[in-house]
Amino acid sequence: MNLCDIRTVKKIMAEFGTGTKKAFGQNFLINADVPFNIAEESYSYHKSKNPILADGVIEIGPGIGSLTYELGSRYNKVVAIEIDKTLIPILEKTLGDFDNISVINDDFLKLDTNKLISDNFGEIPVSVCANLPYYITTPIIMKLLEESKVNGKNRLTSITVMVQKEVADRLSATEKDKDYGAITASINYYGTVKKLFDVGPDNFLPPPKVTSSVVRIELYDQPKYTVKSEKMLFDVIQGAFLQRRKTMLNSLSSHFSYISKERIGEIICQLGFDIAIRGERLSIGDFCRLADKFYDEKERKL
Ligand code: SAM
Repeated sequence: MNLCDIRTVKKIMAEFGTGTKKAFGQNFLINADVPFNIAEESYSYHKSKNPILADGVIEIGPGIGSLTYELGSRYNKVVAIEIDKTLIPILEKTLGDFDNISVINDDFLKLDTNKLISDNFGEIPVSVCANLPYYITTPIIMKLLEESKVNGKNRLTSITVMVQKEVADRLSATEKDKDYGAITASINYYGTVKKLFDVGPDNFLPPPKVTSSVVRIELYDQPKYTVKSEKMLFDVIQGAFLQRRKTMLNSLSSHFSYISKERIGEIICQLGFDIAIRGERLSIGDFCRLADKFYDEKERKL
């Protein structure tokens, strides 16, 4: 069965009395080359990093199973989480031949990612691969990054995902780019981002209004940057980008009430930056140094 054939997709959905749901961000792939290429990009990188051990992958939002099928043909173990219960009997049918795929009917945002990984994969290296629902792209990515550490060591090899093109541009931007923002700096703490290829609206049912892109977040297995407090780091990054058209000094001073504007100015200058610098000029390494200064300042006040 070609799960990307538009007539097949419509026929299966009708047979099970369901249709695509906008509220769940459902845009199903109808060009078989696309899930093939996404799975290839995910698996080839995963295998290059973990040549010996068995391979595991998590998919968020399998839909009717077109990408899941490609992942199940490559990885030893696939765990797919689908929020829409009307798709579960469809997935039982379309993926019935695979004994290495488990489908969980749940909202990914409510799951404990750490537990999901240890319960299903034990020590097996895990990647994430998905055509993400666009309404919750950023929360899903941040949740994966924040919750996938065991004893300080990251458990994910990579996250290969299809997102809206403008989000992909933001994720893969470098400092100085106009698209560089809080999400870019935050992701750079965990790894590097590669933009892989674009996918036009006519590859989906129904077609979305925008072009999509596939990106791969390649995660550091050991932290590359160390900070006194990760919480402070992300707070400083948020604060620095809160008011994009303002200087970082103004933006940070409206975000942190317990440090005077004058003191923030001193810290910015001590680190060797121009007092009028904007957040988009700072690399993640710079943000780590800034966050440690803010952390010391907070400790001093307690
Ligand atoms: N993987 C399929 C494909 O490529 O054709 C479907 C992708 S569709 C863009 C997004 C999928 O994510 C849908 O199946 C949708 O029901 C599911 N989804 C939406 N929100 C979710 C959530 N919070 N947790 C798990 N799945 C979710």
